[in-house]
Amino acid sequence: MPHSPCEVLQQKAAPGHYDRDVPDCLFCAIATGDIPATIVLDGKRTLAFRDISPQAPTHVLVIPRDHYPDVAALAEAGGGLLDELVGQAHQVAVAEGIDGSGYRVVFNTGREGGQTVAHAHAHVLGGRSMTWPPG
Ligand code: 5GP
Ligand code: ZN
Repeated sequence: MPHSPCEVLQQKAAPGHYDRDVPDCLFCAIATGDIPATIVLDGKRTLAFRDISPQAPTHVLVIPRDHYPDVAALAEAGGGLLDELVGQAHQVAVAEGIDGSGYRVVFNTGREGGQTVAHAHAHVLGGRSMTWPPG
């Protein structure tokens, strides 16, 4: 099966840890500003921006600026980065005024998890009642 350039680079580098942006990765390009996005919160190591196809009144993506393929790699990296990312997800909820009413944080992981962009990201969804189970 053919690999995307991102996947090929991931195979060559040490698993799950990159200090620089990965060519041809959409979210690396958003992190560097090469592709525009509507920024909600700008952190030193993390960035929050609006999803291009919102599934709720608030739908914001929170990413590490450095490239990790998924949340498992981010957790493995350590250094408090995953904590910082989840903390920023909560800050997004506060900024959007949905911390009191509640919100959902989702890490789609892998193919059957529904992950379509291979750069770790949390979805912050809120502003309406969420249903369970998810589709
Ligand atoms: P996943 O499916 O990997 O969990 O989430 C990827 C998300 O990225 C999707 O919700 C999709 O709408 C969003 N997305 C895809 N392309 C772009 C883009 O160019 N800009 C922004 N802001 N979001 C995008
Ligand atoms: Zn990336």
